[in-house]
Amino acid sequence: MELSRRKFLEITAASAAASTLPMAKVAGKSPTPRNKTANPLVVASANGLPGVAVAYKKMAEDNADPLEAAIAGVNLQELDPNDQGVGLGGFPNELGVVQLDASCMHGPSKRAGAVGALEGIATPSLVAKAVMEHTDHIFLVGQGAKQFALKMGFKEQDLLTEKSRQAWLDWRRTLNPGDNWLDPDDDRFIQQSAGTINMCALDAKGDIGSVTTTSGLSWKIPGRVGDSPIIGAGQYCDNTVGAAGSTGRGEANIKVCGAFFVVEMMRRGMHPREACLEALKRTIEMTESRLLDEQGRPTFYVNFYALSKDGKHGGATFYGPSAAQRPRSYGTYAVADDQGPRLEKLYYLFEDYERPRKMMF
Ligand code: ASP
Repeated sequence: MELSRRKFLEITAASAAASTLPMAKVAGKSPTPRNKTANPLVVASANGLPGVAVAYKKMAEDNADPLEAAIAGVNLQELDPNDQGVGLGGFPNELGVVQLDASCMHGPSKRAGAVGALEGIATPSLVAKAVMEHTDHIFLVGQGAKQFALKMGFKEQDLLTEKSRQAWLDWRRTLNPGDNWLDPDDDRFIQQSAGTINMCALDAKGDIGSVTTTSGLSWKIPGRVGDSPIIGAGQYCDNTVGAAGSTGRGEANIKVCGAFFVVEMMRRGMHPREACLEALKRTIEMTESRLLDEQGRPTFYVNFYALSKDGKHGGATFYGPSAAQRPRSYGTYAVADDQGPRLEKLYYLFEDYERPRKMMF
């Protein structure tokens, strides 16, 4: 449709007038800006514990940009072949191919970047940042994302380690007793696994960056993209309010735009941990009944993590820590500030004794 010159002038005049209108105020109060001497703060999922120390040091000692610091933090795990939740050595899809997702946001410049179903490049977080910095786009997927990464100078490598290949083979063999894959001798039950790192960083000036990186759900259908690379679901950052991110069942989080939801709750004055709990309640409200137990509780997990511009932080999960068979880091999230890197407790909605017996992952 071609605009007449008159129509064009009307539209531009109207938008010029709109831009001078005072913005509608949101009820409640946003976090107040930091004072200039505040210490940096980094918050991440528990598996980001080594990374929060790196990110904090970069901001405190080298004055690094918060997004650069957070990405340096997650790179540590992306490049670790033993971490099967992200990057090199991540769990593959159902065909045995590792496909990675990542997204990032840079508070001060209000920019974002993301990649989905990226193959052959160990650091999708850096490719997401390159999309943000070098293109007019936000989200590249599949072959296009890989071609872009190669053009940007990223090196291609085989991301499937022997350990992850064996895990995939075990899953494949036990999948269907009637198929042509021989079952292993033992009767191990191979579950779906996952792992993701979300990291949010706040520098001393009050600028914020956030990143989430993952190999997604193990044995996923090729091309499946979870919440991690979706801006507003896997992570979100608003430099005037704070940042948030998520790990767990991406399909549940995508429907509530969880990270955006948490930031919006903080904008209305909620503490980060209350905002995370609120997002979990909304997640349950938006969950189909096949994924809820008889009492309406989820049979999967989702965690949220958040920090606010005034230096508060928190995280929440559905179930309290279990006495049995949980890694020590379960029910925690990673924090680094002037008190050093550490794990802090996630808040939760349900006591452990109420946990459904059958959890998906
Ligand atoms: N959120 C990730 C996804 O759905 C998985 C995870 O966090 O473990 O791809």
